[in-house]
Amino acid sequence: MRRGKDAKRKENRNSGDSHFQTATHLSCYASGLLRIQLTTNFMTTSVTESEINQESARLMALGLHSKCVEGRRDHIAALTLKINRLKKEKNAVICAHVYQVPEIILGIGDFVGDSYKLADDSRGTAADIIVFCGVRFMAETAAILNPSKKVYIPSLDAGCSLSESVKAEDVRALKAAHPGAPVVTYINTSAEVKAESDCIVTSANAEKILRRIYEKNKEVIFIPDKFMGANLAKVLAKKPGEDMILWNGTCVVHEHFDARVIALYRKNYPGLAVLAHAECPSDIINAVDYMGGTGDMMRYVENTNAPAYLLVTECGFGELARIKFPDKNFIAMCRLCPYMKAVTLENVLQTLENPSKEKLVTVPPDTADKARVAIEKMFKLAA
Ligand code: SF4
Repeated sequence: MRRGKDAKRKENRNSGDSHFQTATHLSCYASGLLRIQLTTNFMTTSVTESEINQESARLMALGLHSKCVEGRRDHIAALTLKINRLKKEKNAVICAHVYQVPEIILGIGDFVGDSYKLADDSRGTAADIIVFCGVRFMAETAAILNPSKKVYIPSLDAGCSLSESVKAEDVRALKAAHPGAPVVTYINTSAEVKAESDCIVTSANAEKILRRIYEKNKEVIFIPDKFMGANLAKVLAKKPGEDMILWNGTCVVHEHFDARVIALYRKNYPGLAVLAHAECPSDIINAVDYMGGTGDMMRYVENTNAPAYLLVTECGFGELARIKFPDKNFIAMCRLCPYMKAVTLENVLQTLENPSKEKLVTVPPDTADKARVAIEKMFKLAA
């Protein structure tokens, strides 16, 4: 297992990412004209100081003015300029998940949202190329829904602990042990697992879809997130292990939050609104005011007026909330997802300039056909 991950990282380096990083540099010309030169495997392009200033101003106006980007703003502006030009030249769009860094979401994202929104948005695009700034299962979903388009993932390290926790043969074994029970699968899974499933759900629609499925079924197999399954079972008044058969998957980000910290913050911030993602363990969910997916959490913030919000999820969500609602107060109780953060402006640019075979996300047609049926069922039941 470990060897496999190391080999993937090596592949990633060899496919151009590190070459790009070492070849990106600032240079000052004697004429006083500052140029940022971006050199990749096959192409060298330069952008002028005035173009960088304009792009920097555009990014600032969009809200990219946190301390985190100070000192890097010209570098970021040069990259977003080049990426946006290449998108037009190649008729490409960028899907950006809300856990990505703000420079990706604000600077280059065409579609921004949670897994459900991005899957839905990708269906309507007229672009030839989709670059998915998120993790691999999301890019696979886009590839399944758009078989005639090229879908790329900018980093081979953009996996997901939930997706990697369950394989197609595990699902077949569950089905054999519980004949007749429909398999309801969280979208954070591989194409092969989706192909073995009856219906896909996201955190935004799992409760609604499960309610409808339970209308005709007593027992349901829910995979792979054991915490989300237990949280949903509680909301739906179902018994885990009896009415709802669960798998043992967890999210490496959400499984580690500590409910004691929530209690401490509540003491110090009267009126604090605490929101947590449905992938958190039940002791966290029992301690919060609202559980949902990221889209639901953002709407909750928008529609309420708490003196402060504690957001229990990946850090990118808090960064985006601060930018979207500058007049509201946010406390970060967050963890970084190593898979989401493997995507950078540098490897997005490299992917658009010189896409490697490894980053092209393909799904065998028979697997894609079966998985598409389960995903389309989600869109139907969530409507
Ligand atoms: S935050 Fe968790 S569920 Fe989302 S991609 Fe990272 S590991 Fe997977």
